[in-house]
Amino acid sequence: MGRRRAFGRCASDRSGLDALAQAGSAQAGSVWPAGFRAAISLSFDDARPSQIRHGAPVLERLGVASTFFVLPSALAADRRAWAGMVERGHEIGNHTVHHPCSAGMGWSSSRSLQALSLGDMRRELLAASAQIRRLLGVDPWVFAYPCGQTFVGRGTETQSYVPVVAELFGVGRTFNDKWANSPARCDLAQVACISSDDVSFQALRPKLEETAEGGGWLVLGGHEVGENSDFETTAVGTLEAVVRWCREQAIWIDTVGAIGRRIASTSVE
Ligand SMILES: [Zn+2]
Repeated sequence: MGRRRAFGRCASDRSGLDALAQAGSAQAGSVWPAGFRAAISLSFDDARPSQIRHGAPVLERLGVASTFFVLPSALAADRRAWAGMVERGHEIGNHTVHHPCSAGMGWSSSRSLQALSLGDMRRELLAASAQIRRLLGVDPWVFAYPCGQTFVGRGTETQSYVPVVAELFGVGRTFNDKWANSPARCDLAQVACISSDDVSFQALRPKLEETAEGGGWLVLGGHEVGENSDFETTAVGTLEAVVRWCREQAIWIDTVGAIGRRIASTSVE
């Protein structure tokens, strides 16, 4: 596992501003495939059963391949269904084995990020990929930081585990951010993600418009998928409206890995 990929910047400093300006008007020089002015990925975390029950049917009806950052224990609970997701073109990403988050959140205290070292985290990531490979036969190229948090340790001993993610994966996705990614400038080891939980299409629309105008890459992240937007729930109607709007606006919709590879392949090291 762990195809080693250099992250670095997504494009050279030299061309950064030019690329941004050109991407905004979808002219030559944009990193996006011909005919597309911006990009969007839909992603879902934790392998929650509603993603299979409610998410997959709507995404597949819309013809959209999405990225699922799974916990191996949840995968094992319904391996056959998740194997079907892979067969139908969805991407499986790593999300650790034990989902360690900050001790400050209370529920994560026994395996909190504050209690872990960089070595512990490396073992978490390798173990999750090994379990995913064993269960589904795929080797994750993308990773989502549990709770969007990128550190281990406490206080003066705190360290970033972004470099470990950068070594092991092609993309590392954070969470609860407020912006789309600039393809010319973003760090693929810390790709920003806006939550699609508990928001209507109208609430997301300004971010979508900003992404389209700026030629950016918007990554949405959700948890449960259901009829109504609610706590940790992305509404089916929101997904439908986002996809419809993006198609009308010539925005490329694809997995985190597909778009990340596109950006990586156009980068100048
Ligand atoms: Zn999670």
